[in-house]
Amino acid sequence: MNTPEPTKSIPLTREFCLGLDSEDPLSAHRARFQLPQGVIYLDGNSLGALPKSVPQRLRKAVEVEWGDGLIRSWNDADWYPAPQRVGSRIARLVGAGARELIAADSTSVNLFKVLCAALRMRPGRKVILGEKDNFPTDAYIASGVSSLMGAQFRAVEASDVLDAIDETVAIVSLTHVNYRTGRLYDMAAITARAHEVGALVVWDLCHTAGAMPCDLNGCGADFAVGCGYKYLNGGPGAPAFVFVAERHQEALDQPLSGWHGHAKPFEFVQQYQPATGIDRMLVGTAPQLGLIALEEALHAFDDVDMAALRRKSERMTELFIELVDQELDGFTVATPREAALRGSQVSLAHEHGYAIMQVLIERGVIGDFRAPNILRFGFAVLYLRFADVWDAVAQIKDVMTTGAWKSDRYMVRKAVT
Ligand SMILES: *Cc1c(COP(=O)(O)O)cnc(C)c1O
Repeated sequence: MNTPEPTKSIPLTREFCLGLDSEDPLSAHRARFQLPQGVIYLDGNSLGALPKSVPQRLRKAVEVEWGDGLIRSWNDADWYPAPQRVGSRIARLVGAGARELIAADSTSVNLFKVLCAALRMRPGRKVILGEKDNFPTDAYIASGVSSLMGAQFRAVEASDVLDAIDETVAIVSLTHVNYRTGRLYDMAAITARAHEVGALVVWDLCHTAGAMPCDLNGCGADFAVGCGYKYLNGGPGAPAFVFVAERHQEALDQPLSGWHGHAKPFEFVQQYQPATGIDRMLVGTAPQLGLIALEEALHAFDDVDMAALRRKSERMTELFIELVDQELDGFTVATPREAALRGSQVSLAHEHGYAIMQVLIERGVIGDFRAPNILRFGFAVLYLRFADVWDAVAQIKDVMTTGAWKSDRYMVRKAVT
């Protein structure tokens, strides 16, 4: 049943935001996360917060499974099938079949594997088509793969992508939700256009998985990759994932032919023979502690209705934009104002963005900065409240009216922004 929203008061007030919280069907999920006092965490799109059950699970993994079980735990603690098990949990969140997705390596490495494999499926074609404002690693890997395989990486403006998909294109490689602006592609339309001209599509779901529903199979997607440490909350450097549509698996020629992708790794034969199915996307020994943390973290999504999560995310990002309009001057909203066109983040452009973000972080309002001028706020709605949005904007307002950002110490760039 849909509860009516509290009547919108203009101007918006903190009480109005508290009213939204009291009617939020997902509000109980916040209790599953460990969040420091005094922090409003708007960077779950870079490193998700810690689910409370993870430390205990990791302690058992280290002290009991590693400490006592030693090598036996590959069998006895089910370490060996963890990539498949974790993959099938993520599959549910992105519209993939349980045997079409596996947890492995990093997003960058998975991109390398799928781009090479996909190029080999289109031997007559040479072009990997991407967009100019993609996350750099996606462009770097596409360039690297192109020079390795005699292909060509062509990057166009996002608005030109659809028109640039023609018969020369082997692969369209895009990130569903843009990391800098939060703008999203129409996954179904792009995939359909690519297939019309005989091209394959690779979707990067780094800012999609766990942030909003996604229907890879509903769109007929060919390949996808994504990150375990952002909205999936798997912890720093968590294993990533890779999706290969079932129809492509049998013929797939994966370039990093390591022993864990072999049909029979423990027969130790010299001849490489790929495993059947998604398992051939594996390369080497999986980082068990990272996988165990990610697997435990994924329980935070156990009974989450992704459609409800999306509704909260759209409302929360909309509220943030409304409050920016109402309370702040001098910021430009760099994210689409139409909810259907954005992921779960809002970016604000400001020429002093770096210094402003440093003061905010010092005050416990944690977002991040993306060069040259973007203050980026991610809304991981499983653990955020509408009142947090009010409080964050109130802090930004205070930083601006007091001029607190003007101190020299906020100008020095840290290594990780
Ligand atoms: C975060 C992110 C990555 C990260 O790649 P790693 O290999 O995990 O460092 C890649 N692509 C996009 C679009 C991202 O947002």
